[in-house]
Amino acid sequence: MDTIHIYGLDIYARHGVFPEENRLGQRFFVNAVLHTDMSRAGRTDDLEHTTNYGEICHFITDFLQTCTFRLLEAAAEQTAHDILLGFPLIQKVELEIQKPSAPIGLPLQTVSVRITRGWKRAYIALGSNLGDKERFLREAVEGLNACPEIRVKRCSSFLTTAPYGGVEQDDFLNGAVEIETLLTPDALLDELHRLEQAANRTREIHWGPRTLDLDILLYEDEIIQTERLTVPHADMTNRDFVLVPMAEIAPHTIHPVCRKTMSQLLDELRNRSC
Ligand code: ATP
Ligand code: CA
Ligand code: CA
Repeated sequence: MDTIHIYGLDIYARHGVFPEENRLGQRFFVNAVLHTDMSRAGRTDDLEHTTNYGEICHFITDFLQTCTFRLLEAAAEQTAHDILLGFPLIQKVELEIQKPSAPIGLPLQTVSVRITRGWKRAYIALGSNLGDKERFLREAVEGLNACPEIRVKRCSSFLTTAPYGGVEQDDFLNGAVEIETLLTPDALLDELHRLEQAANRTREIHWGPRTLDLDILLYEDEIIQTERLTVPHADMTNRDFVLVPMAEIAPHTIHPVCRKTMSQLLDELRNRSC
């Protein structure tokens, strides 16, 4: 991806763990690399189609002068987060904050932290088999999009499917969405649980009836195995109600464990059940 480079932005601010640092302040230098597609701006020569680096410099300066952080880590994290939220054309930011006058009692040229943060692509499965199923799915998509750290990019059609897992219950309505998110997988799961609760989801029988079920199918090409999270979703390759919507919105996306596309996985599942 194309990049805009900002080097040596000189900012007088009050970050540090010592009270004198918060009172007196000192100089900080910021370097940033902003990843953004510049081809449209390049073709049109129109500022509308790119990110104004002057605005970004003022934004970083205002932000670091308005807030006071103890740690450079927090200053960098919050600045990167707010750049990504405030400038929608920027997909990824590399940010370095230098503190050349860090009071460590030794001569030092500079100390700095450098982080890289960006929008991550993920896929979420949607399911409902209680009440007004379509409204629950629609509101879930709206609820995802209403979270500032989530942008819904694509939404599949909803399909009616027979219940899965042997529990006697009503048919499901299922779908899938592609999102971009600033949330980590763990924080994304928290957000999904919050939306499930907002839809009055109760957890009684495993695979039993529910107003809303939101699962993380894929998160970039990460493979995650923790106590509360398995990504890619452990059973997605066996579920047509997941693979049908995924083949609709992301036919060429590759499952990072099987190394097969969603379309291939759906074909294989259909051949298996013939
Ligand atoms: P299944 O995961 O087989 O579709 P389910 O969706 O009915 O079953 P839930 O009761 O909704 O299961 O979730 C149980 C737990 O599964 C969650 O609390 C969560 O910690 C865990 N979990 C593990 N991996 C995932 C994932 N990829 N997406 C969502 N939840 C997950
Ligand atoms: Ca599920
Ligand atoms: Ca679930």
